Amino acid sequence: MDHKIFVTQPSLPPLSEFVESLQKIWDSKVLTNGGAFHQELERALCEYLGVKYISLFNNGTIALLTALQALNIKGEVITTPYSFVATTHSLLWNGLTPVFVDIDPETLNLDPKKIEAAITDKTTAIMPVHCYGRPCDVDAIGQLARDKGLKVIYDAAHAFGVRVGDESLLNFGDLSILSFHATKVFNTFEGGAIVCGTPEMKQRIDHLKNFGFTDEVTVVEAGINGKMSEVNAALGLLQLKNMDQVLTDRLLVANRYRERLSDIQGIRLPTLDEGVTINNSYFPIFIQKDFSISRDGLYDKLKTQNIYSRRYFYPLISEFPMYKNLPSADHGNLRVASDVASQVLCLPIYPSLTALDQTKIIDSILN
Ligand SMILES: *Cc1c(COP(=O)(O)O)cnc(C)c1O
Repeated sequence: MDHKIFVTQPSLPPLSEFVESLQKIWDSKVLTNGGAFHQELERALCEYLGVKYISLFNNGTIALLTALQALNIKGEVITTPYSFVATTHSLLWNGLTPVFVDIDPETLNLDPKKIEAAITDKTTAIMPVHCYGRPCDVDAIGQLARDKGLKVIYDAAHAFGVRVGDESLLNFGDLSILSFHATKVFNTFEGGAIVCGTPEMKQRIDHLKNFGFTDEVTVVEAGINGKMSEVNAALGLLQLKNMDQVLTDRLLVANRYRERLSDIQGIRLPTLDEGVTINNSYFPIFIQKDFSISRDGLYDKLKTQNIYSRRYFYPLISEFPMYKNLPSADHGNLRVASDVASQVLCLPIYPSLTALDQTKIIDSILN
């Protein structure tokens, strides 16, 4: 490859449109604290995503931290080791104990059959991740949570626009968290959100993200600064106009990969349940022992050809120093996740990836 190809490349609106928005911000002199663009983006996202209430944040990690505060989560929280490290860091920052449970080899998400055995009298919540925007078994997790009186907070950072039948995946669980980071399907450079189902919860979250202020002189809680600025919100509105095209283009790239990589000995592709509309935010492949080259060998080989794939998610979160001494981080407890982490390679996928470049990527993998 004569140019570098990264695993993702952000989508951007025409610069002239953004300049027009900036002019409006300069004219209004409202820069943050729930200005016109912020309000409009919340409304537009509720409509686009098919959710009741959304509260915008400055990033997904602060949204995770705030979601745990909003539900008063204490003690132990059951979560997956197969995710981006922010999922579990949000627990530590709240003084909570993460309890890792293994994943299902097909969904790559928390295995509901293994959750029950990890519940103790200190467990108050489950924090699953819709990894790669592929839905968790939301019915089984929801049922278990109801039976055991646990809250469910979905890290839906990958799941923008994902639907199960006609329903947004974000409507499951008590709260869902989105990330609008530059590398995500929908980006506001930095940004995030919490999706919730009641006006009371939305109001509580809005107070928490603004230091706990309920009016000029009243502070009801130890809140944080999680507010999204007008610049990011204005950008988000422009990005949203182009989302359908972004998702269509990503599907095209995913289909081209599927066509040529589906029946290759030693490469496993994830399956998908019928009726689920994913967003193709990632294109993971799993390199098995009987492939011609090891996962790390392939990763290195692609790199020498200017193709920068990523091993999301390797190492497992449970292997990082702040987690590895937890009893649930034991390798024997997380066999499926360990296997998957040793096999995964996420291939470049983004709307502007040309068919020609993609052909070169596939040829490099297969030859
Ligand atoms: C990106 C990501 C986050 C963090 O979001 P930021 O907006 O970067 O703070 C959290 N969880 C997962 C699974 C992510 O991929």
